[in-house]
Order: sequence, then structure tokens, then C-alpha cells
Amino acid sequence: KKNDIATPSRTKEILAQHGFMFKKSLGQNFIVERQILEQIVSAAELSDDVGVIEIGPGIGALTEQLAKRAGKVLAFEIDQRLVPVLAQTLAPYPNIQIIHQDILKADLQQLVEEHLGQFSRKSVVANLPYYITTPILMHLLEAKLDLEQIVVMIQKEVAERLAAEPGTKDYGSLSIAVQYFAEARIERIVPKSVFVPQPNVDSAVISLRLRDKPLVEVQDEDYFFRLIRASFAQRRKTLLNNLHTFIEGRMSKEELQAVLERIDIDGKRRGETLSIQEFAKLSDVLRALKA
Ligand code: SAM
Repeated sequence: KKNDIATPSRTKEILAQHGFMFKKSLGQNFIVERQILEQIVSAAELSDDVGVIEIGPGIGALTEQLAKRAGKVLAFEIDQRLVPVLAQTLAPYPNIQIIHQDILKADLQQLVEEHLGQFSRKSVVANLPYYITTPILMHLLEAKLDLEQIVVMIQKEVAERLAAEPGTKDYGSLSIAVQYFAEARIERIVPKSVFVPQPNVDSAVISLRLRDKPLVEVQDEDYFFRLIRASFAQRRKTLLNNLHTFIEGRMSKEELQAVLERIDIDGKRRGETLSIQEFAKLSDVLRALKA
């Protein structure tokens, strides 16, 4: 414990030894506080039968704690310079596989099957590079990996959007895209001071518990998500106006108004007040009318 990677002095020593310079463009902010790692790991509810996917191990601060609690860790790191660093810092742990690859380009299904196939439970645990938080989360949610949980540190404002309820200022198409697949919960807010170098923004640990099946059933998932994005396209416009733009003249405003009335949705409302269930109903009705 005394010699854990996640202390300011050990981190400094490792970085100096390898002459490592941070790349801001890769979102490199390393955790140097054990307590926060404990909280991330405990939110993930790990045990021997869990295979963990980590994105961006850095110098291995979180990876080390995961390896102690999980069956195996499969970690994706884009920065070639960190590969020899990780080989050294994580040498004591036989249950870690580092893959030098961009997570967004990785064939996740194949690699997870190959390296974590023997585990009945699988979760993602990571301190994400903030410049690609949303693409990574959507990549993970859509990859059909049979995940139990995604527990990640992300920018606080993004966490608030992911967990937002209808009718709040943070609620938007991202909230819906995530909550469709998972139950989102903010575990804790994290100050800048736990990182080296310190980021410009506050952070939060969020857990996304994957649902057995999506929150609502829709005829056409792709149409559903396009309709939702369109409903939030101009936040100050009414739902009716945003939808009218979306259907590109395939229906008049009056016809659209009548459809909305039929399913008890007031066209004067704004997109941000609709529940996921209302969007699902709207999506199925409009699609059936080829709008
Ligand atoms: N896990 C370490 C920690 O908590 O101290 C480092 C976290 S740091 C916020 C993000 C890490 O993600 C960096 O190591 C960075 O090089 C890596 N990274 C950035 N973009 C990536 C990508 N597209 N695929 C995989 N790793 C990436």
C-alpha cells in the first residue's frame, strides 16, 4: 500500500525515471490519491469472477487497484510511450493485459471475447480521457458486450447531463441515449486536486448499470434517436417547430399538431420536458405515418 502507484511522490518518481511529458491532447490527468481509487473500485462491486475493461491506464494507478480486486483487467492505452512504463509498474500483477490501441478503433467484441471470455461478469472501470467521453460511452453501450456496469470518472457537467431527469436544464439527447441502455447514478463529485496535472474542470464518478433490455421498446431505434436529437436541436423552439423541421415537409404543421394531440402531447411543450416513454410513443406513431 505504501508503495502504491497512486501517490504524488511515487507518480513523480515514475514520470521522472521515464522522462515522461504529459500530452494534454490525450486527456492525460493521472490520479494521485488512493482514497478516490478506493471509491471508484468499491462502486464497481468487483470480485474474482469479474473481468474488467479499462480505458487509458496511464501509468497504472487505477489498473493496479483493479488487478487486486478483479479476476482480470484488459486495459486499452493509445499512448505508445506508456507501454514500457506500464510493463514496469504493473509487473507484480499477472492478471493484466495491456492493449496498445485507440479504444474507439478497437474491435471490442473480439478482444473482450478473447481476453475476458472466461468471466461470467464483465464491467468497465476507468478514469476517462475527457475529450472523447461521449464517443467512448456510446461505443461501449452500443457494442453489445453484455456488461454489468460502467463506472467512470468524467467531467462533472457531463455526468450531470447523463443522469438528468426530464424537465431539468441538463436533460437532453445524451441523457436519453444513456438512460435507454442504463441506470445512471452520480457516485461522487471529485475535486481537481486528486489529479496530476490538475484539469480545468471538476469531475464526477458515475455508475451506469446496464439494463437487461432497453428502458422502452421502439419499432426503429435509429429513427427514435434521430427524432430525439431533432427535438432538442433548437432548445428554445417548441416541440412542434423542431419536429416540423425534422419531418422536412412530409406533413404540414396542422397534420403534425393533430398527431401530437392524438397521443396526448402538447406541441407547445419543449423537447426537454418529454419523458423517454413519450419519445418512444411519438417515434412509433410518426414512423408508422412515414413522417
Ligand atoms: N487511468 C490513469 C489514472 O487514472 O491515473 C490515467 C487516466 S487519464 C485521465 C486518460 C488516459 O487515457 C491517458 O493515459 C491517455 O493516454 C489515454 N487515452 C487517451 N485517448 C485514448 C484512446 N482513444 N484510447 C485509449 N486510451 C486513450
